[in-house]
Amino acid sequence: MFAVKELTHRYTDRFALQDINIDFPKGEIISIIGPNGSGKSTLLRLMAVLLKCQRGQIIIDGKNVADQNRKSLAKQLTMLPQTQDLTLDFTVRELVEFGRQPHKRTWAALTTEDREIIDWAMSLANVQSYANESLTSLSGGERQRAWIAMVLAQQTEYVLLDEPTTFLDIVHQLEILDVVQKINQQYRRTVIMILHDLNQAAQYSDRLIVMKEGSVYQQGHPKEVFTEKMFAEVFGIPVSIHEMDGKPMFIPKKGKREGKKECIL
Ligand code: ADP
Ligand code: MG
Repeated sequence: MFAVKELTHRYTDRFALQDINIDFPKGEIISIIGPNGSGKSTLLRLMAVLLKCQRGQIIIDGKNVADQNRKSLAKQLTMLPQTQDLTLDFTVRELVEFGRQPHKRTWAALTTEDREIIDWAMSLANVQSYANESLTSLSGGERQRAWIAMVLAQQTEYVLLDEPTTFLDIVHQLEILDVVQKINQQYRRTVIMILHDLNQAAQYSDRLIVMKEGSVYQQGHPKEVFTEKMFAEVFGIPVSIHEMDGKPMFIPKKGKREGKKECIL
């Protein structure tokens, strides 16, 4: 299990997270949702040890991450950040090879097993047909799948994804979510991701964590979390809740939105 305990994080001028306690059970798809600025990326970056933990604990399978080195952590978890470097001039295959780094000695050549895993990751993410093309020549959806393939090649128990579908069109969004579902269902990986699309989050996740202003507002099964009250209190919008194929979904209602105050300059 991945757990965070009493996690608090402060950037220079303000708190981004306050007293966060969450258990992420193994084998589930867990999505973190919440308005912009509610602390989702900060939480995921702390969990991936990309940000230094100031107060609280991050525990993976009973061990505090603070007591482990980077290489050992990279065998347990991998993280796809919200924005990637768009100018990286690597081929898809070269990018995916980076995923094997934690598993080999520095400068050691890739083994046959590494190459098999790289091919497996590329085929799962459906990027094999452009394996030798430069990342810079790909469309947004293709490039995102290449990054997902790199994440898969790392073969970790925990996969952390920060908004993997944002900026993609609906077909490419669903392709990414289908890969996510496959690595969870076929390969039993635990996926912890931030999703912008709330209906997709409800459809694909076993559990939702709702963030509001740096705190956890609610966590639970999508059906427990999707309520008119939650949408009003967290997102400031009136909605109606429906069900499709056993999954909850919301439709915004016309009416007064109490979300962000307009900034009048
Ligand atoms: P989310 O991912 O939910 O949009 P973030 O975790 O990115 O939220 O941000 C939470 C809060 O912390 C926001 O108010 C944001 O402006 C602030 N913040 C994020 N990153 C930094 C940073 N590097 N330095 C200062 N403040 C930051
Ligand atoms: Mg974010």
